[in-house]
Amino acid sequence: MTDLTRGWASQQDADDELASLRDSFYRPDPELLYFAGNSLGMLSSATRERMHRLVDEEWGRDVVRGWQYWNSLPLDAGDRIGQLIGAAPGQVVVADSISVNLYKLAVAALEAQPGRKVLVTDTGNFPTDRYVLQGAAERRKGQLRLVPTDPVSGINPDNVHTFLADDVAMVAFSHVDYRSAAINDVVALTEQAHRAGALVLWDLAHSVGAVPIELDELGVDFAVGCTYKYLNAGPGSPAFLYVRRDLQARLANPIQGWWSVADPFDMDAPYVAADGIARWQSGTAPIPGLVAVDESVALLAEVGIERLRAKSKRLTSYLIELADVWLAPLGFGVACSRDADRRGGHVVLTHDEAYRISQAAIAAGVVGDARPPNLLRLAPSPATTSYTDVWEAMTRLRDLVAAEAHLALPAQRARVT
Ligand SMILES: *Cc1c(COP(=O)(O)O)cnc(C)c1O
Repeated sequence: MTDLTRGWASQQDADDELASLRDSFYRPDPELLYFAGNSLGMLSSATRERMHRLVDEEWGRDVVRGWQYWNSLPLDAGDRIGQLIGAAPGQVVVADSISVNLYKLAVAALEAQPGRKVLVTDTGNFPTDRYVLQGAAERRKGQLRLVPTDPVSGINPDNVHTFLADDVAMVAFSHVDYRSAAINDVVALTEQAHRAGALVLWDLAHSVGAVPIELDELGVDFAVGCTYKYLNAGPGSPAFLYVRRDLQARLANPIQGWWSVADPFDMDAPYVAADGIARWQSGTAPIPGLVAVDESVALLAEVGIERLRAKSKRLTSYLIELADVWLAPLGFGVACSRDADRRGGHVVLTHDEAYRISQAAIAAGVVGDARPPNLLRLAPSPATTSYTDVWEAMTRLRDLVAAEAHLALPAQRARVT
């Protein structure tokens, strides 16, 4: 049984087989309680050292000769990510941003099926997903159709069939909702899309590194995801995309850059797309970010996604238990599923003063974030958070709200939150 003492939390840490992973991250401020790993993950010591080596020994010393060994990184790092998302080698490549990858895949899906001009997503999907899909559809004289999202439980698969017809080229949803942390039903939704004859894409931004998915086994067509959230590869590190093996050569990448051909250095050749997943790259790979992806993903792949998920479920459940006892009397609510199997890596709390509380919490060394109108997101990333961290963060949050420390702060929202 959970109890509310610090002693209980430290006993969980003593029994936790992932406890030492937390200590393999760089912690220049040991007092910092970091709960924003769903937005930008922490830097591991191994990645930090690897970045130093890249600067001094690879870029600094080898300069252009570095391409001898950098060249295969987009595919090698992609295969590593594949271990976390159930993708056999040769189906994932690290390239561009989610926004650009979504665009490439949406246009490819529309062009491959000229009679189908509609894309489908949900009203609560991340802004860039909705914007990019809308632009891709409208430029091809089609449209984006939006399925309603429940603010707590995500997409109800029973509501989706009315949005699917033989005019839909591609259905694109997020595996884990960035706001509510709801885990959408990949099995039911993939099956429905396929029954309507559409291709299906899953955005794994809030699941890769925190929640497992079996892309090959589920027959998913496409996936995209970023590497700076639970994969900890740093600000602006490149995204990845997955294209099921048998679709790779049947569809065309609309950005036919020189990195999408078989031999980029055969420079007089006319355009011929590479056969495998390599064709889904566009231009020169961003090596500093890729090096960080390779190193950061290796750390998590070694531990295994199932163990990360098991700890993540326990941490978020524990956080909710503390919130119920300590924070509910102070005006907080819980706006994510209470069923750990239906909840991703973060917890969503509500409070009328969410914005000011999140600012006051940051000043007290507890970094989460606020989302309008009244949401507080707290992500106890399984790789970097201990049970004692959760206990300590919730104690600080309770004490600062009880003391009304947040009311001394301005109510105006900053541009970046
Ligand atoms: C974080 C996130 C993105 C980010 O897209 P970029 O183009 O890589 O900036 C996209 N989609 C979802 C669902 C996200 O959570």
